[in-house]
Formats: sequence, C-alpha cells, structure tokens
Amino acid sequence: MHGLPSETDFIVVGAGIAGLRASVELASAGRVLCLAKREVTESNTRYAQGGIAAALSDDDEVRLHLEDTLKAGDGLCNEEAARVLVEEGPPRIEELIEWGTEFDRAGSRIAFTREGAHSRSRVLHAHGDSTGREISRSLLLKTQAIKAICFREFELTTELLVQEGRVAGIRVLDQAGQLHDIYASAVLLATGGLGCVYSNTTNPPVATGDGVAMAYRAGADISDMEFVQFHPTALFLKGAPRFLLSEALRGEGAYLRNLELKRFMPKYHELAELAPRDVVARAITHELELVKRPDAAVYLDLTHLKAERVRQRFPMIYSTCMEYNIDIASELVPVRPAAHYAMGGVRTDLNGQTSLPGLYAAGEVACTGVHGANRLASNSLLEGLVYGARAAEEMRKHLKARTKTPQAARPQLAAVRPNGHSADAEKFIQKVQTLMWERVGIVREGKALRQVTSELSALQAQAPSPGDRRSYEAANILQAGLLIARSALAREESRGAHYRLDYPLKNDAKYRKHSVVKGDTIRFE
Ligand SMILES: Cc1cc2nc3c(=O)[nH]c(=O)nc-3n(C[C@H](O)[C@H](O)[C@H](O)COP(=O)(O)OP(=O)(O)OC[C@H]3O[C@@H](n4cnc5c(N)ncnc54)[C@H](O)[C@@H]3O)c2cc1C
Repeated sequence: MHGLPSETDFIVVGAGIAGLRASVELASAGRVLCLAKREVTESNTRYAQGGIAAALSDDDEVRLHLEDTLKAGDGLCNEEAARVLVEEGPPRIEELIEWGTEFDRAGSRIAFTREGAHSRSRVLHAHGDSTGREISRSLLLKTQAIKAICFREFELTTELLVQEGRVAGIRVLDQAGQLHDIYASAVLLATGGLGCVYSNTTNPPVATGDGVAMAYRAGADISDMEFVQFHPTALFLKGAPRFLLSEALRGEGAYLRNLELKRFMPKYHELAELAPRDVVARAITHELELVKRPDAAVYLDLTHLKAERVRQRFPMIYSTCMEYNIDIASELVPVRPAAHYAMGGVRTDLNGQTSLPGLYAAGEVACTGVHGANRLASNSLLEGLVYGARAAEEMRKHLKARTKTPQAARPQLAAVRPNGHSADAEKFIQKVQTLMWERVGIVREGKALRQVTSELSALQAQAPSPGDRRSYEAANILQAGLLIARSALAREESRGAHYRLDYPLKNDAKYRKHSVVKGDTIRFE
C-alpha cells in the first residue's frame, strides 16, 4: 500500500522499543499503522548502550530489583508500577530472546553486568555496548514479518484529533508536505524522549518532545516533567555530537579528572565515580564553575585499564571516539553532562491509559511513575517493553467500542507545503535550548525559573508558524520546555534529578507527590 490510509484499527506513533512491542500485540486484533518521523531505525532505542535490566541471573531476585528501583526513584516511584515492571520484565525479555535478540553470553549462559545503584549484576547487553541496536533489529524483523502491521517512515504526526472528548485519530504531515487525518479506535503515543529541548543532549534529533506537547495540547494530564536525568559523561568536542560515554565505563573502573587532572569524585561522594548520576552531574558542574571557562571540560580516564579489555568490552564507544581521533584506551576523553532521559511525561495508569479516552502512551513519553524522581540505569528499555505490551493489551479490548467517523464530519484540510521556515525554526529552537540549558538544567533556582518561564511563555507568540517539519518541532520543543520549567518552579524542594539551590533539601511532607499539569493549572497529588 502506498500513501497514508484514512482509517485503520490502531495507530502507533513511534517505532522504538515501546511502539514495536505494542505493534506485535495489537496485530493479533486488527490493522496497525506504525509511524516514525525519520527512518524506523532512528530512535532513542537505537542508541541505548549499557543494556536492559531484569532479575534473571541465578543470584538475583525480583524483590531486589524492586528495592533498587524504588531507592533510585527517591521516594517518588509509583510502587505498583515498579512492581509490574520488575515482575513482568523477565518473561518479556525471554520472549525477546525467542524472537531472535542476541544478548552477549559467557559460554552458553547470558552475561550480566552491573551498573550504578544496582545491587546485583542484572543488566543484559548486546555486542558489548550496542544493546538498543540489537533489540531494535530483532523487533523490526519480527514486526515487519507481520502482515497486519503497516509501517510508514518520515511521517510526522502533528496533532491528536479529539472528537467529543475522545481521541479519534491523528493528523500527519507527510513527506510531500500534505496534511492527512487518520482515524482509529485508539492511538498509542510511543514517541520517546525530549532531550532536544536542551542544547546539550545525548538524544538523537528525533527526541523533540512531540508526544508530550501533542497530548498536552489535546488536554491530557502531564506528570513529573521537572525530573530530567542529565547523564554526567557525554563527549565534549567542538563540532561533535554529545555522544554518550556509558556509565559502564566507570563501572569498569574509569576515573573522572578535572582540568588539573586530579580525581575529584571522592570528595563529593563515598562511591566516588559510581555515585548516582545526578550527584556526578552536579559535581562536574561544580568543578566546571570553579574554572570559569565556557569551553572547559572534565576528563574520563581509562588509561590505567587494560587496553584490550576496553576495546573488547566497548567496541562501539571505542570506534566512535576514534572517529574523533581519541583513543579512549590511551588518551583522556573530554566530557560534560548532557540531557539524557525524561522521567515524566504523559500520565498513564498501569495499562497505558491516559486521562483522555482513546489515547494511550508507553515508553519514555509516558509517565507511569515507575522511575519516580530518578531512573535506575537500564530500566527504560525494560519499561518500553513491559508497558508497550500492556498498553496494547488494553487497546485491544476497546476495538469494538469505536464509533466510525463519518466521512462528512472530517475537516477538509489545506495542503501545507514546506515554505522555507526552516532557518527561522532552527534559530528559534537554539534560543529555547540555550534558555533551557542555562536556567532549567542540572542546578536550578527560583528567580531564574520564574524569569525563564515568562520568557518561554512570551516566545509562544513568536514561534514560527506551522509550515515545515522543523517549525512543528520548534513548537513542540518550546511546549515541552515550558512544561519542564513550570513544573521545576512549582516543586520547591530537591529530589532525585531535580535540584534547587534555593530549596536544597527534600520536603516529604509537602512534595512526596507527583506534579500534574493540565492546561494552566499545576497540582501535586
Ligand atoms: C545514547 C542513549 C543511551 C541509552 N542507553 C540506555 C540503556 O543502556 N538502557 C536503557 O534502559 N535505556 C537507555 N537509554 C534510554 C532508552 O534508550 C530510551 O528511553 C528508550 O529507548 C525509549 O524508547 P521509546 O520506544 O519510548 O522511544 P524511542 O526509541 O525514542 O522511539 C521514538 C519513536 O517515535 C517516533 N516519533 C517521535 N515523534 C514523532 C512524531 N511527531 N511523528 C511520528 N513519529 C514520531 C520516532 O521517529 C521514533 O520512531 C539510552 C538513551 C540514549 C539516548
């Protein structure tokens, strides 16, 4: 089939781990349209390095995985959601293996590695440091062999279509610049993260927060947006993307050194380089502030480790750094923190149902509360897998509930052609990204948050008018940024990944609650 259909049974927006896993489940009940805004292989999933966590090794227990997840979440996890994650994780991973995912093995047994804040070695990995690529490969093979699933690449979903309070479909800007409306019994948002809201991010360019922005505009509840995880160690080289240097490197013994080449982490935390991500990111920020040079970096040092082991264990990181003329086995690697993962998103129940009938969300775009205020390393691929399947199971139940939209009721849409807004949109995006990085980044403070919230609100009137893809993304980046800033301003405490200089302590009495934004209001519950 060529072109886009005007109706189908289920729409899945996103072809990362959550969207693909959901598509498999939905295909047994009806026709599935799975959309990606770039190639189906381009997603956060594709770049996941370290691995996927599950209590599958002999010395591990589901109970321990739950404990570690709750601890990392700093008092804010939805315990029920976390329990579902750790209990359903192992069978979902076994299913992935049956479908052809090849995790690394030690002899005939699966090899598990340990990452920061895990009490056991429970992280499965593939090709050393290319876990996401392997999972994506096998899930794409599986889904592309299923006839009921129709993939469409380079199709940008711009809006959710709401009829009588129910999400009835989506609006899509196709490759030729035409808008299409597509109707279905249910829509799953699996649009991934929002790292591109910030000027420094480990995320690929597709992560522009489209799902959160669309759901907010349609009237859905959005939760916990203030909790953005900043990864401490992204490559910091002029002209190079902020390529992630996995925490597993520090797990293998890498040190962090400041500009004077001194190890600094021991003075910030007893676990030194293996302290929680937010502690390491803030320590680096502090070290950088001390030198007061805008181009300064700290260094990741692996030179004391066996070169052969480094090359074998991290082949992809090794070869990517070599492309920038850095041999990580024998040279110091300049690094800085970068925006990495959104704990918050479109609020859902344990079955992916959002506050809007007909709309579901799974994966990084969703907020089940599973990660609380900070995500345990390697729990996000698992979330996409477990909750992608659960959301689809729920969507299947409602297939019959669909009321078919009469042709005449559909709005007539004008063709919108790319109209040369790209350069304006690019400039606009950079402005928002810089504001977000400087004022709503790793260390936050009330006065700056208040200022930036009103600056971002004012920018809404100046957003490039929707025309080409980039202007839609510009509006979404601004919308997602504003949601983060408003939530960060409202939470007058420090917890997990959210750190306020003016409220450096946790305030359980007032804020051991989730923030929920709906329209102009924000509440804690
Ligand atoms: C560098 C890096 C390393 C990571 N390492 C790990 C790790 O080791 N372990 C771990 O658990 N997690 C890791 N993560 C996080 C993890 O990869 C993500 O949280 C997870 O893959 C998200 O999956 P997803 O299915 O929700 O979304 P994604 O995989 O991001 O997929 C999003 C999909 O939505 C599509 N899309 C978005 N907007 C639109 C739109 N408007 N219209 C149409 N399509 C759209 C995209 O094209 C894409 O297909 C890492 C992330 C990064 C960036």
